[in-house]
Amino acid sequence: MIRLSSPDLGSEEYDAVVRVLKSGQLVHGEECELFEQELAKYLNCKEVIVASSGTAALHLALVSLGIGPGDAVLVPDFTFPATVNAVELVGARPIFVDVDLKTFNLTAENVRKEIEAWNGPERIRAIMPVHEFGCPVDMTKILKIASEYELKVIEDAACALGAVHNEKKIGTFGHAGCFSFHPRKAITTGEGGAIAVNDEQLAREIRTWRNHGIQKNGNENDFVVPGFNYRLTNFQAALGRTQLKKFDDWLKVRKNFEKIYREFLSNIEDISLPSEVEGHAWQTFMVVLEERTKRTNLIESLKEQSIETNLGAYAIHCLSYYRTKYPEMCQRHKGNCAEVLFRNGLALPFSQTLKKSEIVNVCNSLVQLLERG
Ligand SMILES: *Cc1c(COP(=O)(O)O)cnc(C)c1O
Repeated sequence: MIRLSSPDLGSEEYDAVVRVLKSGQLVHGEECELFEQELAKYLNCKEVIVASSGTAALHLALVSLGIGPGDAVLVPDFTFPATVNAVELVGARPIFVDVDLKTFNLTAENVRKEIEAWNGPERIRAIMPVHEFGCPVDMTKILKIASEYELKVIEDAACALGAVHNEKKIGTFGHAGCFSFHPRKAITTGEGGAIAVNDEQLAREIRTWRNHGIQKNGNENDFVVPGFNYRLTNFQAALGRTQLKKFDDWLKVRKNFEKIYREFLSNIEDISLPSEVEGHAWQTFMVVLEERTKRTNLIESLKEQSIETNLGAYAIHCLSYYRTKYPEMCQRHKGNCAEVLFRNGLALPFSQTLKKSEIVNVCNSLVQLLERG
């Protein structure tokens, strides 16, 4: 089976995890702190706080920035639902922003449109741009809008470790940048996540929320907020540290695979390719099919040829929880670009663990099946 993606694990990873297991220091400790420092160095930001998942990272960022009931948060309509679920979890209200058909990201123009059309009662307090599949959002434009309307910026960079905008790493533009280390993402710790911040006070608050609300007062623990347990474990951090060391090499392989896909699939009727955006980290390669192509059948036929494919991400306004809670907003977004991508996006096998010949294989099968109709 040519899988959509597989974790890239070897003897260094096995050794690192076993070393920590043998030490008996399983929960948050030195490995986590070293992983945080190495991530901060990689991203070139002041501090990184690791967490138990990308979703936990988003939740921690929102809580620590004081987003809650009475607040509204701008989110892209096309994403993995965890982005928007985090907004709901803190009791804030999401405002869906449509995305671009070629980058799959929200655009500054659409953000502005939603802000200008908003008439409350909630106050728009934050924006959560998602760098979908590793494609960097134009953060220059987003930061301009954010400063104009005094918005907090929480980047959902779950898919975008290694992505760059204007020579600066994605995830370091806003107040907080959230990453995921789920096995589908760039590097993995099993489950895991991280938050990049440039404000030391905010970093302290996030650490407190991550760890039950504990603040050390000399030798005594005080509990200053009703916090979570969103800690990463030491053996996960050890895994992440070995992965991070190899990541820049992996990124080169991935960029090369992207070129191969592009070479074989451009000029194919029924397939449109994602934009070649500068600084893209290519976590997922999603093509968009024509409406008339039956995606479900195509996925089945590819599976019969031992090729795993899937939809790319979701149009949030099509999901039942959101349709029920915000019927008017969801109605208004009916048939938008996010929905086109949700219905017709096809994520192709994409990982540095694949061989070039396997990528070519996928292209040939896909083209043949489309020609057959
Ligand atoms: C994967 C993903 C998340 C969730 O990360 P987890 O580590 O699985 O909790 C959030 N947002 C986006 C855009 C993602 O792709």
